[in-house]
Amino acid sequence: MTTVIPAIVAPSATEPLFLGTIERRDVGAKDVRIDIRWAGICHSDIHTVQGDWGTQQYPLTVGHEIVGTVAEVGSEVTKFAVGDRVGVGCLVNSCGECENCASGNEQHCLNGAIGTYAATDVDGTITQGGYSTGVVVTEDFVLRVPEAIPYEKAAPLLCAGITTYSPLRHWNAGPGKRVAVVGLGGLGHMAVKIAHAMGADVTVLSRSLSKKDDALALGADHYFATEDRETFRSLRSSFDLIINSVSAAIDINSHLNLLAMNGTLVNVGAPAEPMAVNAGTLIGGRRSFAGSNIGGIAETQEMLDFCAEHGIAPDIEITSADQVNEAWARVLSSDVRYRFVIDIETLKG
Ligand SMILES: [Zn+2]
Ligand SMILES: [Zn+2]
Repeated sequence: MTTVIPAIVAPSATEPLFLGTIERRDVGAKDVRIDIRWAGICHSDIHTVQGDWGTQQYPLTVGHEIVGTVAEVGSEVTKFAVGDRVGVGCLVNSCGECENCASGNEQHCLNGAIGTYAATDVDGTITQGGYSTGVVVTEDFVLRVPEAIPYEKAAPLLCAGITTYSPLRHWNAGPGKRVAVVGLGGLGHMAVKIAHAMGADVTVLSRSLSKKDDALALGADHYFATEDRETFRSLRSSFDLIINSVSAAIDINSHLNLLAMNGTLVNVGAPAEPMAVNAGTLIGGRRSFAGSNIGGIAETQEMLDFCAEHGIAPDIEITSADQVNEAWARVLSSDVRYRFVIDIETLKG
């Protein structure tokens, strides 16, 4: 049995989204059914629908920044009760047995973690995301959303928050560490807030000076424009960690040269084209070029608790179900400060 519920649906890679329906499975013994209240819009949603990362099965509903309340629990659920405020991020399942799952890194499951949308679920159906009024998820992939985080602002933490928190933690951002954030969009603005809260000295590197006031208000200590070549001369060898949130190609060698000895540049954006890294740039100064992909479930909970404790939430703009096509167009032109969140009440009709 399944339940048919309202959803925002992509009919193909090229046509506009429309207000339609999707099916959700019945609640199994270990499942939690969530009434979705807010759903963030991530650039990945658009890449996926447009087929940038491979062909998809349509119709498709995306969205992996999901917040709502528990509406029903299965007979063997122990962690959640009806009425709890919860979230779901980019993953809804993994094998639970491989070495990466065993170490709490379900996002790197060797047997393939199951994404919240556009992935093949254990029952063979294609997972459907959070631009909908409800979702059914096994309890191990459900996060607890602290009351201290404003309800409407919590959703983007489930992707943009953990994507930046995880590398900042892994590479020990904190007091005495010089962290640069490249790009000030949905990911970048969260990186600034989190790195600042961790106690690091934070620099924003953005193309122009247009976002300088914003960056300083978000918690950055310094700001430089990368269109000014002097930036690359004056900041040479001066960062312990650089988080590159830009998903378009950048001059990667110029940015690697900004790393101090033993520094690491971590890509969290995923440009479509390969990058030509000059080995000499890495050899000089024993620098590292790395990548990072969201975070595991336990670390995602740690991030939510950290944000609650430090009063951190994304800057958002609320949109309605019938305005999502316009919101997507604005995401594509980088015209949002800094994340859209869909008010799912407007989908309930
Ligand atoms: Zn995302
Ligand atoms: Zn696994």
